[in-house]
Amino acid sequence: MFFKSSKINSFRLWGLLLTMFGMGLMVLGTAGIVFWGQSGKIVAAIGLVIGLVAMLGSLAVYFWAGMLSTSAVQLECPECHKLTKMLGKTDRCMFCKTILTLDPLQATITADELEANQSTNLTAK
Ligand SMILES: [Zn+2]
Repeated sequence: MFFKSSKINSFRLWGLLLTMFGMGLMVLGTAGIVFWGQSGKIVAAIGLVIGLVAMLGSLAVYFWAGMLSTSAVQLECPECHKLTKMLGKTDRCMFCKTILTLDPLQATITADELEANQSTNLTAK
């Protein structure tokens, strides 16, 4: 699931997971006081610290994703014809997960060939 997504989408997913993880740890840590009393305070302290670090990490991931998406190339996906963004030379379409590349050496099929294939498929049907 992580690997079959565009880079921007997976960054957002990781940010969300880190936030959930951090909040979960803080809640669990605080719950430790209720369950174990005095000795639970140590658990709570550790949970709060790790939770806070995870939240800060998620903030950094979100910030990074925001910075990256401003420099992302916007293009129309040749497969589903929606406007998508790609990072680097190779990325997946945000909508249909088709692998897109700007590098002609890595491309197995060019946009023109795809267009030609689609039109021949349409006429064949
Ligand atoms: Zn697409």
